[in-house]
Amino acid sequence: MPFADLAAELAMLDARGLKRHRRILESPQGAHVVVDGREVVAFGSNDYLGLAGDPRLAAAAREGAARYGVGAGASHLILGHAAAHHALEESLAQFVRLPRALLFSTGYMANIGIVTAIAGRDDAVFADKLNHASLNDAVLLSRADFRRYPHRDLATLEDMLAASQARRKLVVSDAVFSMGGDIAPVHALLRLCERYDAWLVLDDAHGFGVLGSTGGGVLQHYGVASERIVYMATLGKAAGVFGAFVAGQPALIEILVQRARPYIYTTAMPPLLAHTLLAGLEIIAAETWRRELLAQLIARLKRDVAGLRWRLLPSDTAIQPLMIGANDEAVRVSEQLAQRGLLVPAIRPPTVPEGTARLRISLSAAHSEQDVAQLVEALLEVEKNS
Ligand SMILES: *Cc1c(COP(=O)(O)O)cnc(C)c1O
Repeated sequence: MPFADLAAELAMLDARGLKRHRRILESPQGAHVVVDGREVVAFGSNDYLGLAGDPRLAAAAREGAARYGVGAGASHLILGHAAAHHALEESLAQFVRLPRALLFSTGYMANIGIVTAIAGRDDAVFADKLNHASLNDAVLLSRADFRRYPHRDLATLEDMLAASQARRKLVVSDAVFSMGGDIAPVHALLRLCERYDAWLVLDDAHGFGVLGSTGGGVLQHYGVASERIVYMATLGKAAGVFGAFVAGQPALIEILVQRARPYIYTTAMPPLLAHTLLAGLEIIAAETWRRELLAQLIARLKRDVAGLRWRLLPSDTAIQPLMIGANDEAVRVSEQLAQRGLLVPAIRPPTVPEGTARLRISLSAAHSEQDVAQLVEALLEVEKNS
């Protein structure tokens, strides 16, 4: 029978508690959403500043649609590079204080584009083991020598760099680790890159908009600047819209325009989204209260769950993972929270290492103190009954 082996694979996933299901969202993204017909408090989005459902951005999108229509209709290099895209690239470069920026349709594609355009068979890529899947896929596709170091293990990274004979060396790292929430040691990574003449690719998907006084991301947070940095961030998370960009030295960006296949062989993002993002950038920089509120909610959650048997991983960002361990227990806790009207996704392998299933609590400036209090109360109850 055709596909019988696929059915067996699905049954195996189910038996191991690894089969994933999609919930149906019926409202705009936010702290309070309607899911599968029911109103719940959600702690599962990457909408850290609460902008995805912002009416001002929806208005900007309508204005963008009126001005540009709906679709780009072509790739950037053919006839799809609209004035809004161009203006957004200039604003993004300024926003992160790097010379030039280039838009991609998604962060996944940006990572594939960066690594495959600048690394090949004679090169080596040194990657933190907990990097995002898109960075790993990018390295595999590039055919470069793929060297992974244990999470944050700078001594091992240094040994690898010192031993490498590669023509070009790239160190690639999540800036904020997507399933742990911890911030990469950027200063130390940069020092190693300088010592061993490597480039540093930073994926700031979870830092852009959130870290730094005006939301400039991990570089602003640490006050670092270097010509070795290839900076990448997404625009579908804190920025609340869709897309991604790469920023860095002009020659790097121009090589991406010429060589990055996920840039060249795909339709440009709808220009109305670029128009929307331009309005969003001003809000991100100006509304510092969003980052302040988020910091307060993070502090409150950390303080109030300290009595639980389950522990939060050490994180100061909006990603606050509660370590559970076993897959079935993580799913059960998540389901019990859902019964109480709280959505917190259980994250299981292969997204995280075996034996480290967790609840990924993600906080947002759209949440209130009361939402966090409700979550903590429910966690205490679920723990008592388990
Ligand atoms: C979400 C994410 C991406 C992918 O970005 P998209 O725009 O959603 O494709 C890349 N890297 C990291 C670390 C991410 O969390």
